[in-house]
Amino acid sequence: MADKIFLEIVTPEKKVLSETVDIVVAPGEMGEFGVLPGHIPFLCKLKVGELRYRQGGALQHVAVMGGYAEVLNNQVTILATAAEAAGDIDLVRAKAARERAERRIAESKDKLEFARAQAALQRAMARLRTAENK
Ligand code: ATP
Repeated sequence: MADKIFLEIVTPEKKVLSETVDIVVAPGEMGEFGVLPGHIPFLCKLKVGELRYRQGGALQHVAVMGGYAEVLNNQVTILATAAEAAGDIDLVRAKAARERAERRIAESKDKLEFARAQAALQRAMARLRTAENK
């Protein structure tokens, strides 16, 4: 049995990452899940959050803005709405997005505005948390 996993993260815009890794921990909609070599085939929805993977001694962090994860034949494929490796996250932009979202939540006049602002806040928070962990 293979002792490594191939991890690929793609968004509609680009391929974010393509690496051979030891373990992947991803933010599933029903909770965080880990994938080691030999994992059974699996498909699930992702929530906005932080994906981590270990490569040798190093733990890497990626912000994932929701999407789908497929596990098949020692390959984890992440189809994300948007995703950024921790080192690629623009902190100033994420902080500005958080402040904007907080303002919009406070000023929202209907449920839709509120839900949109809350989703934007979740994305900004996930980016800030991920960047802090780099
Ligand atoms: P913003 O309000 O700052 O645009 P957003 O949550 O609306 O944030 P998304 O729609 O999730 O942004 O992403 C749009 C594009 O911008 C994607 O390619 C995403 O990777 C990139 N992106 C968004 N925020 C950041 C950030 N803080 N650092 C780096 N890339 C980012």
